[in-house]
Amino acid sequence: MSSGGSGGSGGSSTEHGERGAATDWARVLADATLEGVVIHERGHVQFVNAAIARMLRSTPEALVGRPVLDFAAPDDRPRVAAHMAAQSEHPLIGTALRADGTTFPCELRGRTMTADGRTVRVVLVRDVSERLAMEAELRRRERALAAVTEHSPDVITRYDREHRVRFMSRAVEQATGVPAAWFVGKTLREWGFPEALITPWETINDRVFATGCAEETEFDFTGPDGVQRHYHTRVVPEYNDAGEVEHVLTTTRDLTALKRAESAARDAYGTMRGLLDQSITGVYVIQDGRFAYANTRLAETFGYERSEELLALPGIDVLVHPDDRAVVMGNIRRRIRRGRGTAHYAFRGLRRDGRVVHVEVHGSAAPYKGGPAVVGVLLDVSERLALEEQLRQTQKMEALGQLAGGVAHDFNNILAAIAGYAQLVHDDLPADAPLRDDVAEILAAATRGVGVTKQLLAFSRRQALEVAEVDLAAIARALGAMLRQLLSPAIELRLPDAHVSAPVRATAPQLEQIVMNLAVNARDAMAGRGVLTLGVRIAAGPDGIERAVLEVRDTGHGMSPDVRARAFEPFFTTKRHDQGTGLGLATVYGLVRQFGGEIHIESVEGRGTTVTVSFPLVQRAPRAAEPAPARPCPAARKRVLLVEDEAPIRAVTRRMLERAGYAVREAPNGAAALEALRGGAAIDVLLTDAAMPELGGVELAREVAVLRPGLPVVLMSGYAELSGASVNGDGSVTDVTGCRGFVEKPFTAERLLAHLAAALESGKE
Ligand code: ADP
Ligand code: MG
Repeated sequence: MSSGGSGGSGGSSTEHGERGAATDWARVLADATLEGVVIHERGHVQFVNAAIARMLRSTPEALVGRPVLDFAAPDDRPRVAAHMAAQSEHPLIGTALRADGTTFPCELRGRTMTADGRTVRVVLVRDVSERLAMEAELRRRERALAAVTEHSPDVITRYDREHRVRFMSRAVEQATGVPAAWFVGKTLREWGFPEALITPWETINDRVFATGCAEETEFDFTGPDGVQRHYHTRVVPEYNDAGEVEHVLTTTRDLTALKRAESAARDAYGTMRGLLDQSITGVYVIQDGRFAYANTRLAETFGYERSEELLALPGIDVLVHPDDRAVVMGNIRRRIRRGRGTAHYAFRGLRRDGRVVHVEVHGSAAPYKGGPAVVGVLLDVSERLALEEQLRQTQKMEALGQLAGGVAHDFNNILAAIAGYAQLVHDDLPADAPLRDDVAEILAAATRGVGVTKQLLAFSRRQALEVAEVDLAAIARALGAMLRQLLSPAIELRLPDAHVSAPVRATAPQLEQIVMNLAVNARDAMAGRGVLTLGVRIAAGPDGIERAVLEVRDTGHGMSPDVRARAFEPFFTTKRHDQGTGLGLATVYGLVRQFGGEIHIESVEGRGTTVTVSFPLVQRAPRAAEPAPARPCPAARKRVLLVEDEAPIRAVTRRMLERAGYAVREAPNGAAALEALRGGAAIDVLLTDAAMPELGGVELAREVAVLRPGLPVVLMSGYAELSGASVNGDGSVTDVTGCRGFVEKPFTAERLLAHLAAALESGKE
């Protein structure tokens, strides 16, 4: 192959300049350029530079003389040939074939030229593999970007400084019903978006243009389906090469579903919180010795208003009674250490006001906000414990009452006989008889004994009482004068206001006894100075029914819990033998219960005592229950059938009756009385004991009502429950058929006669 080439314009030269005298500048130039240079004549290479030799991984020597098309990839040769034939000067992108068989993309620019009378084609070759790769990468990126924007559920928009849309992603059609392409080149105002939205949008865009800082905004927009949706938009700057913000890009996302879920979650949380707060149990989470959560009920249990106050406590131990702290804190620590299981225990809590509250808790270990915690529920059981204690008390008092009542009843009959006979003897003795004083002593002792048994009977509620409407407030006021006598001058006495009235069904002497016993106890507790308050008011009970309430309050030494628990027991006293019998509160207790009332002691050691007594308030018009005042026997020689199983009582009663002029016929029991009546005994009035074995006074009265209608019956009893006459609880006997009167045992002759006279009187009507 010839290696002759032409290049320079000056004379002949050799390829390798070392032999020529003049420097071959043309060759230097050709080798200096990075572009490949090929000169061929009718398709045969005449000249190549170093760059093309490198590109083809060959040497200039190997290239010169070869057909130029050898260096085009076989597929490309027809195109290159056509380009050559057309002497085209347009650049051509083709594929070059290297000597080792590899290829590379190149850009060719050819030019046909004449030199020394020869027509040659000068071809400049540039390796474009890098550029093409870059372009391909760019296109790939653009495609990826397009895929993102096109398939994104977000609306992506590019705005220029005039607020014109330069790009709009496809999602806008879903939101507005308008295809994305229609927005391009327009402003949103031109599209008729609501003014109220456009102004804030444009303001934000302007700001991002000015500051280059990204911004966010939210808005509502009603779509073509008429549904209002909530959107969030993020606006970011887009810089040009000069570092200026040329566009802003906005990404607008539909947050409706998220918002809905959020508000549903908030609602659900609110409902949960509400339910928890209204729950009757306290609910808590304890972490690091403090409350991490507490519901309102828990706060209330400890006397706080809001649960936040509990969360603010430095530690939970302030809510625990000092004596129980070690146990409670130990339980919590153990729960946390084991990390499982539930503990159930009770302890004494401390309310904010210092009062003790009895609580029960169920606590279990559970992680809370990533840390170990105890989660639990707490129940205030103070009321339940108080009720249980009250029940125990009531049962104790019932049992004591049974015992005391049984003893007192028997004693009462014995004392009645002693007193009755003593009275008769006393009355029969001449005024100057020396024995008269002795008998008077017997009488006095018996009367004192009757007093004791009466108290016991009162406690056991077996005293037969003739109840009537009595004003509790008036009784308390009336006792004022007497009480002042009993109290030392340094004790201030406060009485109910004159206008207060509180009618109850009771008996005046027993109400007086209640007030007196309580007042005396109060005095004893005050050591000569203090304030004693007798308050009477009307208040609704827990059942909503109005009650008359008596409060006896003192500022004395108060009671220990132990004393309070036993205070109502008969013969329980903390006083010296000669100062207290221990029967005061027992009597009060029995009387109060007998009148359908309640009694309650509140006392703090060293801070005084308040005894509260309440009775059902009288709502009906009162009825007369007291018999007419005693009158002398109206008709002498009235005939009485006296029924009494206790012989001594029967005998003494007979004596009282005969002395008053009655003709007395006796019967030792109900059956005998009935027999006498059936036998046609002529009598004007029946006087019968209420409590008798087999046929009691009440049953007898019923029989009599059939046998002798209209025959007045008078019941005698010291033993209310068995009499049946007070079965109705208020001591009234008018409900018992035929009963005209009721006389309480033990009785004086005067009382007995008054009742009989009244019965006979009413029988005449
Ligand atoms: P007594 O007065 O004879 O001791 P009570 O039955 O009236 O019997 O009272 C029983 C006990 O209850 C008293 O001994 C006393 O310890 C206590 N107590 C009663 N009332 C009061 C009071 N107002 N303040 C303090 N302690 C009282
Ligand atoms: Mg007393």
